[in-house]
Amino acid sequence: MATVTPDDVLSVLKRIAAPDGRGNVVSAGLVSDIAIQGGTVMFALTTSPQHVKTMEALRGAVEKAVQGIPGVDKAMVALTAERAPPQPGQPPQQPQGQRGTGVPGIKHLIAVASGKGGVGKSTTAVNLALALKSLGLKVAVLDADVYGPSIPKLFGLTGKPEPSDAAGKKMKPMTRYGVEVMSIGFLVPEDTAMIWRGPMVMSALTQLLRDTEWSEADVMVIDMPPGTGDVQLTLAQQTPLAGAVIVSTPQDLALIDARKGLNMFRKVNVPVIGIVENMSYFTCTKCGERHEIFGHGGAREEASRIGVPFLGEIPLDKEVRLRSDSGEPVVATQPDSLHTALYRDVARQVWASLEGGQLARPAPRIVVDGQ
Ligand code: ADP
Repeated sequence: MATVTPDDVLSVLKRIAAPDGRGNVVSAGLVSDIAIQGGTVMFALTTSPQHVKTMEALRGAVEKAVQGIPGVDKAMVALTAERAPPQPGQPPQQPQGQRGTGVPGIKHLIAVASGKGGVGKSTTAVNLALALKSLGLKVAVLDADVYGPSIPKLFGLTGKPEPSDAAGKKMKPMTRYGVEVMSIGFLVPEDTAMIWRGPMVMSALTQLLRDTEWSEADVMVIDMPPGTGDVQLTLAQQTPLAGAVIVSTPQDLALIDARKGLNMFRKVNVPVIGIVENMSYFTCTKCGERHEIFGHGGAREEASRIGVPFLGEIPLDKEVRLRSDSGEPVVATQPDSLHTALYRDVARQVWASLEGGQLARPAPRIVVDGQ
C-alpha cells in the first residue's frame, strides 16, 4: 500500500476553497500540522466560534476528500477555535450550534480536572463514574488525558476496541463494571500521544467521542489532561460540557493550581460543579488516629471563599491506591467501604447539580434517531 505523505494531503487540500473566498484552505492558513500514523491522517482546521456551524460542513468535506487519497484508511479532522481570552462583559463563549452534548444518546458530559498532575484526578474520575453507576445511572467514561492515559489501567482493561461495523468506521467502547470506557490508551502506544500538539489532541478526542458507538448514557465522565494550558482550554471550550469537577489535594500549591482550573472553566463558561479534596487526611490503620498530612480543610475553605460547592473529602488510603493501580477500583470492588460511601456522596451531589435534584431517577428521555 502506498505511504501517504503530508504533501499528498496538502495537494488535495489545496483544491478545497476556503470560506469567504479567501483562496484555498491551505493558503488561508486554516490547516494545522498534519500527522500521519499508518493509514490515519490527523489534522485540524482553524475556525472562529461564530463560524463553527458552517465550518462543520467544510470539515466533513475535507475529511471525505482526504479519505479518498489512496493509502488513507481514516482521516481525523477537528475544528479548533483559536481566540483571545474573553474580556469582561463579553457575550457567552460557548460555540454556537453546540447545545446538547453533541454525542448521540449521551445526556450530560462532565469533566474531571485538576490544576496539576498527581492529585488523584483519574482515580477520582473512575470512582465517581462507578459511584454514579451505583446510583442507578447509565455511565460512560472518556479518557481525555492523552498525555498519560491511565483509565485503561484503572479499569483493568487491555486490548483494542473492536470495530462496530464491517467498514471499520466506528469502534465499540470497552466495558467494565457496567461502564463503557474509551481511551486513547487503547489505540496508540503510550509514548505516542505525549508528542501531540494541541490540534492533534483535539482531533483525536473528537474522534474518540464521535466515532465510538456509545450506548445511551445519563452521564459521561471525561478525565481531562492535568493542568490549565492551551490544550485543556481548547478541550473545555470545544466539548459541550455540562460542568466540571475539580480535584485538589489540601496542599497550598495544589490549591493555587485548582484556582487556575476554576478560572479556566469560568473563562469558557463551563459551570464548576464543585471541588473534591483528595488525599485529604490519613486514618492510621494501627492506631485509628486521623493524620492530616498535608494540612486539612484547605479546599473546603477555598471553595467557600470563591463560592463553589465543596463536594467532599477523600482520605489518603493505601487500599484506594492498591485497588486503583490493580484495576479494581474501590467503588466497584468494596461497595461497603467508607471510601465508596464518600464517592457516592460526591456522585449524588454531582447528579443533583446536573438534574436539579432528581437523584437516581433519571427522567425518561426521548431519543430521536440519528440525533
Ligand atoms: P492524576 O490523575 O491526578 O495524575 P492519579 O489518579 O493517577 O492522579 O493518582 C496518582 C496516584 O495516587 C495513583 O497511584 C493513585 O492510586 C494514588 N491515589 C489517588 N487518590 C488516592 C487516595 N485517596 N489514597 C491513596 N492513593 C491515592
